[in-house]
Amino acid sequence: MKKRLTIALVAHDRRKVDMVEWAVFNALFLAKHHLVCTGTTGKLIQDAYREKGLTASITRMNSGPLGGDAEIAAMVVRKEVDLAVFLIDDLNAQPHEADIMMLLRQCRIHNIPIACNRYSADLMITSPLWDEESYKPSIPQYIEFRRES
Ligand code: PGA
Repeated sequence: MKKRLTIALVAHDRRKVDMVEWAVFNALFLAKHHLVCTGTTGKLIQDAYREKGLTASITRMNSGPLGGDAEIAAMVVRKEVDLAVFLIDDLNAQPHEADIMMLLRQCRIHNIPIACNRYSADLMITSPLWDEESYKPSIPQYIEFRRES
């Protein structure tokens, strides 16, 4: 594994409880890496860590609806993010739907692992592939498929 990963954390309002629980549960792992969060998500994680005496390196971007997701998407494009956890509220419409789609799309385009639930996030951060020197992620291919008529 790269010594220090940059991990993006974003949670919509009704998913923030889950995100804070996840971040506290994985505090030992996350303490070894750098976290980039949307504004409110980052603040809640900072508050929870302070309350529990946990430490983390956290950079807070703008709040999601004010461009935080877009800022993190730009970091993904610049290859400044190694993995992302994005807890989306799938039950309620968001004012910044376009930015959400952009962040998801840029992670797919740039082949950045992105977990949209805690289970995926747990599997992702515990993958032995992070330590596998010989493992190289395959590049997504966009090859036209011609259906035989
Ligand atoms: P927030 O942004 O952490 O600032 O609430 C998250 C989002 O809504 O994308």
